Amino acid sequence: MEQRLDYYTLVGFAPESTGPDDLESLSIKADETALFLDFDGTFVDIAETPDSVRVGRRDKLLLDELSRRHQGAVAIVSGRNLSDIDHYLAGFSGTVSGGHGAELRHAGQDFLGASCDLERLEHIKNAVMEFAIIDPRVLAEDKSFGIVLHFRQHPELEGKVHDFLRSLVDGDAEFEIQPAKMAFEVKPKGFSKASAIERIMSFVQFGGRSMLYAGDDVTDEGAFAHVNARGGVTVKIGDGPTVARYRTQSPASFKDWLRAQPGPSRQGA
Ligand SMILES: [Mg+2]
Repeated sequence: MEQRLDYYTLVGFAPESTGPDDLESLSIKADETALFLDFDGTFVDIAETPDSVRVGRRDKLLLDELSRRHQGAVAIVSGRNLSDIDHYLAGFSGTVSGGHGAELRHAGQDFLGASCDLERLEHIKNAVMEFAIIDPRVLAEDKSFGIVLHFRQHPELEGKVHDFLRSLVDGDAEFEIQPAKMAFEVKPKGFSKASAIERIMSFVQFGGRSMLYAGDDVTDEGAFAHVNARGGVTVKIGDGPTVARYRTQSPASFKDWLRAQPGPSRQGA
């Protein structure tokens, strides 16, 4: 217990006693709310490897239902590539942000968010992929605007992975390390899930609505803070310190809660 409180103090969060409320105590209005959903660990369960997540038929039906209820004001905001989300959510025509805000698609149109030195990015990617070949306990995930080193199978490698990536981009004007769940990513600076949300809110389907953002990861904390500051609702999936206002235990409990929410009021009871 002592150790846990020390950790909360260290990362600057309030102790658990003032932590998030149970999501079950919240009800949202579909015609006044824009939904922003992280993908891995929020809408689908985290899998052993990034390419082994499963999206069930019921999940796709839920996403379609949410798009209807919220009149198109539903966005997936993921660290994954846009093309990856397309693969898992084939047929979803709603708004998607990929690569931590680096990529964005809305109403069938792609908006490229990130610009960076692509040649330098390529050198960084090559170095990271070499690292994963030399130490096969880690897994490199190539992204359009970044590269991830996963150490999910070997948590003891966290320090080694971070030291290596820091040696590549420490003090770099253009690239930075983004911590993730059992992984670190090198990505261009200046793009984030928060910047993606801000941009998406400028689209007409989203305008004027209050925001709900749900996520599970340290990469979601910036988006939580952004949405909190604008009076929105934030939902942390799973354990761990967070600035989110509500918490639910798993993607399954989160989706059950979503299913139980009322439809638009104008459709009547
Ligand atoms: Mg996630």
